[in-house]
Amino acid sequence: MAPTPMIQQYLQVKSEYQDAFLFFRLGDFYEMFYDDAIKASQLLEITLTSRGGNGEDRIPMCGVPHHSAKNYIDQLIQKGHKVAVCEQVEDPKTTKGVVKREVVRLITPGTHTEGKSVDAKANNFIAAADEVAGGFGLAYLDISTGESTATYIAGNEKALLNELQALHIRELVVSEQLRLLLAEEDQQLILSVEHMEAPFTAEPALFANCPSELEMCGKRLLAYIAATQKQSLGHIQPFAFRENARILGIDYYSKRNLELIESIRGGDNKGTLLWLLDETVTAMGSRKLKQWLHQPLADRFAIEARQQMVEALMDRYFVRVELQQLLKQVYDLERLSGRVAFGSASGRDLAQLRNSLEKIPELVRELEDSGHASLEQFSAGLDPCPEVCELLAAISDNPPLSAKEGGIIRDGFNAQLDEYRDASRNGKDWIAELEQKERAKTGIRSLKIGYNRIFGYYIEISKANMHLADLERYERKQTLANAERYITPELKEKETLILTAEEKSLTLEYELFVSVREQVKEYISRIQQLASKVSALDVYISFSEVAEKYRFTKPVFNDGRKISIREGRHPVVEKMLNKQHYVPNDCELGDDGNMLLITGPNMSGKSTYMRQVALTIVLAQIGSYVPAASAELPIVDQIFTRIGAADDLVSGQSTFMVEMMESQYAITHATERSLLLFDEIGRGTSTYDGMALAQSMIEYIHEQIGANTLFSTHYHELTALEETLPKLSNVHVSAMEQSGKVVFLHKVKRGPADKSYGVHVAELANLPEAILRRARELLLSFEADNHKTQQQAEQLSFFDERDTVNEEVLQTIKDASISRMTPLEALQLINDLQEKISGGG
Ligand code: ADP
Repeated sequence: MAPTPMIQQYLQVKSEYQDAFLFFRLGDFYEMFYDDAIKASQLLEITLTSRGGNGEDRIPMCGVPHHSAKNYIDQLIQKGHKVAVCEQVEDPKTTKGVVKREVVRLITPGTHTEGKSVDAKANNFIAAADEVAGGFGLAYLDISTGESTATYIAGNEKALLNELQALHIRELVVSEQLRLLLAEEDQQLILSVEHMEAPFTAEPALFANCPSELEMCGKRLLAYIAATQKQSLGHIQPFAFRENARILGIDYYSKRNLELIESIRGGDNKGTLLWLLDETVTAMGSRKLKQWLHQPLADRFAIEARQQMVEALMDRYFVRVELQQLLKQVYDLERLSGRVAFGSASGRDLAQLRNSLEKIPELVRELEDSGHASLEQFSAGLDPCPEVCELLAAISDNPPLSAKEGGIIRDGFNAQLDEYRDASRNGKDWIAELEQKERAKTGIRSLKIGYNRIFGYYIEISKANMHLADLERYERKQTLANAERYITPELKEKETLILTAEEKSLTLEYELFVSVREQVKEYISRIQQLASKVSALDVYISFSEVAEKYRFTKPVFNDGRKISIREGRHPVVEKMLNKQHYVPNDCELGDDGNMLLITGPNMSGKSTYMRQVALTIVLAQIGSYVPAASAELPIVDQIFTRIGAADDLVSGQSTFMVEMMESQYAITHATERSLLLFDEIGRGTSTYDGMALAQSMIEYIHEQIGANTLFSTHYHELTALEETLPKLSNVHVSAMEQSGKVVFLHKVKRGPADKSYGVHVAELANLPEAILRRARELLLSFEADNHKTQQQAEQLSFFDERDTVNEEVLQTIKDASISRMTPLEALQLINDLQEKISGGG
């Protein structure tokens, strides 16, 4: 059976939106058909029905009511799907045949701006990438706020995907060619193709700040957004060029390892640096803080400018409190102006925008009167946008959410509107009076005048009182179970007056509202600039609150490599310890000695110590104070970590493989201005193998890179390196034995640790006494054996030949680019290496 014309229309539209669920408007419902219907009914848990034909001809169908569609769309987007919303674009009453329908918007995970799944405190970026020499161009923007950025990513697809992951980008716009390349690497990322077939023109001003090479990328992104949103892009800000040289580079894994924004366990952000730092009071401020944590600065001037603001706010406690009170009354200016640009702002949004803008002069005054030069200077940059406030004066104090119910425009704003409103209000008064009069005339106290949409105004009299009704004047309109409804000519006449006035008033009001909204559009970029400054202020205040609360101090910077931290702390661990005392530790690194080899028993605090140094650097370079009695720091260009092994199981790669890949990445990218953290390298393989790798890496970093490095290890043998490597020194985290039990002192001291406390830790964990006793015995015999083996090993010249072995190992790590191999190839390689090493022994 041939499909009906409507289904033909559906199939036509669907053919253009293959990768999206097509929400096809039919009256009060959005319907889905065929495969869409089958899939959506499962995903959304709604009933699957069918339509037309018999048996096999029947078409699977399911639908959602249009008034609750948002919620369903939100669910599909959250699950990583796209939704094409297809509306009726003709009035069905005046059309013969099938009503014309068009897709009015394609909603995708990267362009979704409303709904429960959108987090007010996080940006939702969509990105586009293009290949350029040596890497990729990347452009990304948040449609809800209009912020846009362009940058280069050096390296291969892995580097690009890492960056996308760090920015939480779910959707990437690419050419077909790049789509094929990336689809193999990452199955989670939504790859949307934009061919750029039609010439796309964008305001040249949008690209004024970035290299012309990146323009292509930005245009691809804008073209995709224009094609899917089919709406004004007036609020998109010029692409800011992110110069990586001015940013502290931290790859995705290191961000996770250091728990800057996400915790390693996933889930909420408890235990992260963000969790500790976020004392912001606006959603914009919270987003800004995240952005800063994602991209700490590597530009001393810019960092010190932030520091000055924090310092000023530390000095002015009362100003800070006042400012925070004002900020609490400022709504999300960025997202509000985004909605204005989209034409989706409600009356309530406009009122919030106005109320927020009205707070700005107060903020300015508070800053101006602070008596602090930095704050005064900052206030000069805050533009309260008075023109917008003037425009928004038209909006009433408490407008309703719906734009069509009236009540948005304030009385006295428009004479014509006031007139209509009077007419309808007077009419209503008249009706109230009529009710009184009719009660008096008929003597029916329960008589009332009501209104409904179908019958209009009516006089209602209960059945019991019917005999009193004045049927000469009353005309019967509707009969209910226990009442009759009437009208009178007089009432009918008034009704027409009231309803026309009301209708005219609503129409005019809506026009006025839309016109105000359109005029506000002109000022969007000014509002955005203001928003950016206000959110930064929120973060500065948050920094000073945190600094005060946790006794942070202002770090000073040098232009060399010297790190000198006195009584440094890990702020998150300290906070988690609650009332328990955190043991502060110093850290000295720099030209004379850039490597610390850290030994000490398990659980003594090695990893905490390494992390606290890295977090101190990150905090300093976002402009915050740091958890130390004092700190002198360099400007670090990149931080690399090789800590723990969290997500290895998920990706199906061996722990050791991941360890090697991360090491390879760090070693090939680090410079002498970088900070490297290596925690227990070589653990995932046999002892000598692991130790050989660890040592060769240490030597390589020492000789070739010169980066400040913290290297923790359980290979006590490595502590001998202090004798041959002048820039390496041993430190250990001390522990103490007290009546056969281990007590961790968490104090970092010079020199190597001398003993492993594993058995004691096992004792603390209450392992059965029999096991502990046996372990003590074995330990003694192992130690004796080990002594022998070491002597043998030296004779067997493993250590004599280690230089050649190391060369090979090193070379492999360096240029085999393990990351480009399949896991199988890499494991094969590692096996070969293992054989080589043990063959040499
Ligand atoms: P390691 O890396 O040596 O196995 P961790 O760094 O993981 O040990 O530290 C183990 C635990 O010891 C931490 O979770 C923390 O509770 C505690 N700890 C570490 N360093 C300190 C410190 N400086 N002061 C107080 N407690 C600490």
